[in-house]
Amino acid sequence: MAPKLDAELRKQLAARVDYYREMGIHDFYRQPIPESAVTAEEDSGQAVEPTEAARPLPIPNDKPVALRLIREDIGDCTRCVLHKGRKNLVFGVGSVNADIMFVGEGPGADEDQQGEPFVGRAGQLLNNMIAAMGLKREDVYIANVVKCRPPGNRTPERDECDTCMPFLLRQIEVIRPKVIVALGAVAAKNLLPVNDSMANIRGRWFDFKGARLRVTYHPAFLLRDPRQKKEAWKDLQAVMKYLDLKPKSKAPEE
Ligand code: SF4
Repeated sequence: MAPKLDAELRKQLAARVDYYREMGIHDFYRQPIPESAVTAEEDSGQAVEPTEAARPLPIPNDKPVALRLIREDIGDCTRCVLHKGRKNLVFGVGSVNADIMFVGEGPGADEDQQGEPFVGRAGQLLNNMIAAMGLKREDVYIANVVKCRPPGNRTPERDECDTCMPFLLRQIEVIRPKVIVALGAVAAKNLLPVNDSMANIRGRWFDFKGARLRVTYHPAFLLRDPRQKKEAWKDLQAVMKYLDLKPKSKAPEE
């Protein structure tokens, strides 16, 4: 029989679930409820206070702590098949106070090896794009839609993205960036209710839970088709204009 929770704990849980729904998070993972959190009502007819561990915790104002809690919730994740091939789970990196958050698709071989997003050739190009904006990599926050490397660098499947997205949404909620830059179609289509071509979703602003969102090309695509760098630079210039950033150089080089 399902354990019985006391009325106050039930109310707090409902409030927490509403909070996540407002953020667009609808999938929840069950964790076993510690026995001590279950009221003794069924046995004795008397409700007992849940332990501290069983109470839903508020999101801490301390951003590093909040991010650490998300990382702890992910744990040694096996929620989707991507866990099977990973060497390292790639959580995210950068400033907790970043105004800009870059969101990519998923880790590649170098990222899987090092446990950090965008550290290979595409990462070098992203660093150059960030530098061209007059910023350092440490000034922004970088994360991916899926946190484990898809085998052979294939595009992550719909269910894999859906399973992993709640963690990214929680990271965004903690960082509270002014601008989110979606790198490529997978990031854009997971963050936005759009199913359009890059040509149609680039070049305009979207609202995303209090932030502004801009879509540009994924650096790995720019490595394959360097002619599009000019277009990506236009996207970044729009972000710079919005944030009143001054460029350091004309356009990012590989
Ligand atoms: Fe878990 Fe995300 Fe990795 Fe899938 S990709 S195993 S949901 S962390």
